[in-house]
Amino acid sequence: MNDLIEARLTQVTERVARAAERVGRSPEDVQILPVTKGHSKSAIESVLSLGLNCVGENRVPEAEAKQTELDNTSGLSWHLIGRLQRNKARRAVRLFDVIESVDSLRLAETLSRIVEEEDHEPIETLVQVNPSREVSKAGSSPEETVSLVHTICHLSGLRVTGLMTMAPFGADETVLRNVFSKTYELLRRCRDEIPGFEGRVLSMGMSSDFEIAVEEGSTRVRLGTVILGER
Ligand SMILES: *Cc1c(COP(=O)(O)O)cnc(C)c1O
Repeated sequence: MNDLIEARLTQVTERVARAAERVGRSPEDVQILPVTKGHSKSAIESVLSLGLNCVGENRVPEAEAKQTELDNTSGLSWHLIGRLQRNKARRAVRLFDVIESVDSLRLAETLSRIVEEEDHEPIETLVQVNPSREVSKAGSSPEETVSLVHTICHLSGLRVTGLMTMAPFGADETVLRNVFSKTYELLRRCRDEIPGFEGRVLSMGMSSDFEIAVEEGSTRVRLGTVILGER
């Protein structure tokens, strides 16, 4: 299994690099976040043994179970990439190093308050945006994103480092490019319009669309199936 995962990872790394080079970007500017949701703890062990230092999980209870089962996850950065209900916010603060799916002020305020109560260092956060306005997708609307990021930047428990988006599944290339380029543009506006904000992380691209996302400026691709196989 490890060999298979290693072979897939090599291929994917190569595809990311080629996509970056097509648009004159450096491959080193794109981080691969292996998404281990729906896979057992051995997937995480493989990821660790291949020298990767981060994993993405979309559900709090699943991440909690895996952290309990794993002997040693030192050096591993846990990213929450799925929708977070406020009643699980405290567990999320304890379990995750990065929360990529903050999409409302209410959730941000809850997280910040908990970080303070727990005497936790400020937690790294991305604001999730939904430029395609797909009703089924979480995320702030393009109109509200800049002011939402601005407000969240003032919460002492959170450290906003950028934006995250999820493109509509199976959409054609034009739609995908539009979603990714709008997200890129929103992050640029955040930097221009929010004093002191220097966030540069753009978490966008999944197994089916990551090369397009890289061409449109992604700095972090969240990859499950292409590395770990079907769930
Ligand atoms: C599941 C998931 C991914 C990875 O999906 P694949 O298509 O398997 O690469 C990326 N981002 C989010 C938010 C997800 O929920």
